[in-house]
Amino acid sequence: MLDFLQNQSQDLKSLAIMGGTFDPVHFGHLSAAQTVQDLLSIDKILFLPSGDPPHKQKSGLTPAETRFHMTQLAIQDNPGFITSRLEIDREGRTYTIDTIHELRKKLPAETKLYFIVGADSFLEMPTWYHAQELLRSCSYIVVNRPGYPLHIDPDTFEGVDYHIVEVPPLDISSTEIRKRVREGRSIKYLLPDQVIEWIYAHHLYEEP
Ligand code: ATP
Ligand code: MG
Repeated sequence: MLDFLQNQSQDLKSLAIMGGTFDPVHFGHLSAAQTVQDLLSIDKILFLPSGDPPHKQKSGLTPAETRFHMTQLAIQDNPGFITSRLEIDREGRTYTIDTIHELRKKLPAETKLYFIVGADSFLEMPTWYHAQELLRSCSYIVVNRPGYPLHIDPDTFEGVDYHIVEVPPLDISSTEIRKRVREGRSIKYLLPDQVIEWIYAHHLYEEP
């Protein structure tokens, strides 16, 4: 894929990062991103699959290259969505704050930078690496997620520029998709067909 950030970002007025492990990417991610893009008129949504995320040291995380490929398949028909190898190519552990710094360097100074997070992730962010700096490094768009009520402690998030955006609730998770494949149940209508085909063709998620 041609690197949009390197070559075509000159006229970008706004960009929203949608970060995640995307193991695999699903309609919960895609639909939330689309709603946010439409409501806030954001030029591009950048899907950023994580490399080696410090807060998700679960055993058996699918290799970054595979998660990146599935993400590419999922967004390829949408010109408003892009992806990048920024995190998967980085040596060592990947920290979101480093990603923000790197993006700021690549993007024009005028580009408004947002970070889209689900309710579950946002409430965990104060425990992330260099959280205070991270939370002040860009604007956050917090989307609702079924099963994760959004009780924001004003003291914890004081000084943080966040906006809550209501998206159509989709009770879908990558964990549930992996579980269904393992149990031989259908994953249709939870994620794009191209990704489903790829999962089956490469026998992903069949083993616990
Ligand atoms: P896993 O079950 O492996 O943790 P996940 O479904 O939570 O996977 P992630 O890659 O962890 O997906 O999430 C990436 C981002 O997308 C996070 O900010 C998360 O809160 C958000 N997100 C994931 N699923 C949904 C959903 N169904 N609705 C809204 N936001 C979501
Ligand atoms: Mg998750």
